[in-house]
Amino acid sequence: MSIRIRPEDCRGCGRCVEVCPGNLIKRGPDGKAEISRPQDCWGCASCLKECAFGAIRYYLGADIGGRGGQMYTVRKGPLVHWIVERPAGEPVTITVDSRDANKY
Ligand code: SF4
Ligand code: SF4
Repeated sequence: MSIRIRPEDCRGCGRCVEVCPGNLIKRGPDGKAEISRPQDCWGCASCLKECAFGAIRYYLGADIGGRGGQMYTVRKGPLVHWIVERPAGEPVTITVDSRDANKY
C-alpha cells in the first residue's frame, strides 16, 4: 500500500495536513499538499478520508489483493464516496453517511 497526492486534483484546502498523525504532509510553495517522507507513511488512510476532491490515491498492493488498484474518496456534503478503481473492470463505490460515523 502507498499514498500518492495528485497535484492536478489538489485544491490546497489543508485538511490532509491537519489530520496526518505522522506529520508527513506539508504544503508546497504552490499551496498544494505533498508527502514529505512517503516511506514513513503507514497507510492509516486518515488523509484519504479527509480529501473531498479525490486527490489522494491509496494504492492497493498485491499483498491485500489489490493488484494495482487504487482507492480514493469524494465528499458531497455528509456523504463520503469511497471509490475503488481496479486495473480492469468497473469502479466500485461505497457510500458512507458521515452523520452515522459514531453509531456503531
Ligand atoms: S485534502 Fe486533498 S485537496 Fe486538500 S490539501 Fe490535501 S490533497 Fe489537497
Ligand atoms: S495514510 Fe496516514 S500516515 Fe500516511 S500520509 Fe495519510 S494520514 Fe499520514
